[in-house]
Amino acid sequence: MRLVLATNNRGKLQELQALLAPLSIEVLPQSQFTSVAAEETGLSFVENAILKARHAARASGLPAIADDSGIEVDALRGAPGIYSARYAGIDASDQENLEKMLRELRDVPAERRTARYRCALAFMRWDTDASPLVCQASWEGRILDAPRGTGGFGYDPIFEVEPGVTAAELSAQEKNRRSHRGKALAMLVNELKLHP
Ligand code: IMP
Repeated sequence: MRLVLATNNRGKLQELQALLAPLSIEVLPQSQFTSVAAEETGLSFVENAILKARHAARASGLPAIADDSGIEVDALRGAPGIYSARYAGIDASDQENLEKMLRELRDVPAERRTARYRCALAFMRWDTDASPLVCQASWEGRILDAPRGTGGFGYDPIFEVEPGVTAAELSAQEKNRRSHRGKALAMLVNELKLHP
């Protein structure tokens, strides 16, 4: 089977290709079919994952997988959540987003800095598929008051996953094994095995 991945993120593509290869599933990037991105107008990770998968299935005529993810900070009442990529503005960099979060949490003590990454993955057989396969997972941690580590991306340098270790200090393999995205992907692969 061939399917399209609704992302232009090279890391996400490689990760999925590796996981799906044993199932004889070939993963193609959305960029092969369209340069237009889906409009992320949903109010939940699941809605946005479905919007992205539908867009990719429509553009390609192939089954599609999409991921929507973000970080939820309890002291910020769940913000930035689905707006994580554009927290500091529409074209904000990872660094700008991270700095904004540190500013917002400046007066919040360590014990109240709990947070989690969330990921929703959607698989649609075609663009009008009314029963998309959806898998969700999360990864608990807390927000530090200064960045540490050079791996990963986004909020990883301030996301502490165990005492003294940030997500940016894990190897790529270890992060994939523990992360919200890695876990959701493993669930989806399991479902696809059961319902090819
Ligand atoms: P999306 O690509 O529209 O789903 O946006 C995801 C955003 O959430 C990213 O731009 C990051 O800001 C944040 N995010 C999601 N997953 C991770 C992760 O594993 N590490 C760091 N930041 C993440």
